Formats: sequence, C-alpha cells, structure tokens
Amino acid sequence: MSKPTLATVWLDGCSGCHMSLIDLDERLLELAAAVDVVYSPLVDLKDYPEHVTIALVEGAISSEEDLHKIYLIRERTDILVAFGDCASAGNVPTMRNPFKVQEVLDHGYIETAEITEGIPTDVIPALLPYVRPIQEFVNVDVFMQGCPPSPDVIYYVLTELLAGRKPDLANKTQPGA
Ligand code: SF4
Repeated sequence: MSKPTLATVWLDGCSGCHMSLIDLDERLLELAAAVDVVYSPLVDLKDYPEHVTIALVEGAISSEEDLHKIYLIRERTDILVAFGDCASAGNVPTMRNPFKVQEVLDHGYIETAEITEGIPTDVIPALLPYVRPIQEFVNVDVFMQGCPPSPDVIYYVLTELLAGRKPDLANKTQPGA
C-alpha cells in the first residue's frame, strides 16, 4: 500500500517554521518512514503534485504567485495545515500593510540601495496591495500556531493526522508543550 504524501510549502515567511521542522531531529526518521515527501523547499521537485495528503503551508499571501500557489495547493490537497503564525494570522509579513506597495518597493530597491538601484521587473512576483493569512483565500483544515511552532507541536500534529485524528492543539502551542 502506498504511503500518505506530505508537502511543505514556503510562501511569505522567514523559513523559521521549516527550521523548526528540521529540529525534529531523529523524529524525522520516524516521519520519513511514514510518509513520502513529495514537495518541499527541502527536496528537488519543483511542481506541486496532482494529489497530496497533507500540506504544511508556511507564510502569508503577499504576491500574485503566492495566491496562485495557495489555490493550486487547496485544489490538490486533502489536509491543508496553516503552518505557523504568518500563515494563520499574517504576523510579520503584514508589517508592510500600512504602506503602499510602491512605497515598499521604492524604499527597498531605490532609497536604501547601495549597489544596484532599481526595482526589478522580472525577478520578484507582483506584490498584492496587502498581505493576508491564507484562510482569507482558501479553507484551512488545521491551524498550527506559533512563531515558529515548536518541534513537539509539529510532531504532534503530523502524527495525529497520520493516525486519522484531528489534532487537539489547545495545550500544544507553546515551545516544549
Ligand atoms: Fe518565521 Fe514566525 Fe512566520 Fe514562521 S511564523 S515564517 S518563524 S515569522
């Protein structure tokens, strides 16, 4: 029988949630035996598969590319997990929301440029006017809060989902919980 599949996705986040995933250490071996990792910044596959059992989505939606990805992920995924506070509440990336997109680009690429001044047009995807958490665009099945969620919380959520249970996260949001 084929194993469940796992995707991990990095949208507008700092990758700290993925670092916390790596901090599972030897428990990664246990998970690796239980799932096939089919898409992730940690593996080489570049295209989101047609069907995924569980997706951990880190980061908020801040660009047209993020938006395209989250719709595709929702369409192709059984259980979508908002992985960390940026995905579930916007968190750090929403700090740009009080400013206009043009102001943000001008400040980052022109006013503070030290080497090459100019806003790239073919490297960064077009930014949306505001950064939003993912549940404002698609249904989320599990909210895994924390900045980042602790390795214990990540392990708990994944093992519960793989056992066919809905995680009860009421007492699992603090590091080491
Ligand atoms: Fe980084 Fe925290 Fe956002 Fe995770 S929730 S991507 S650790 S800022």
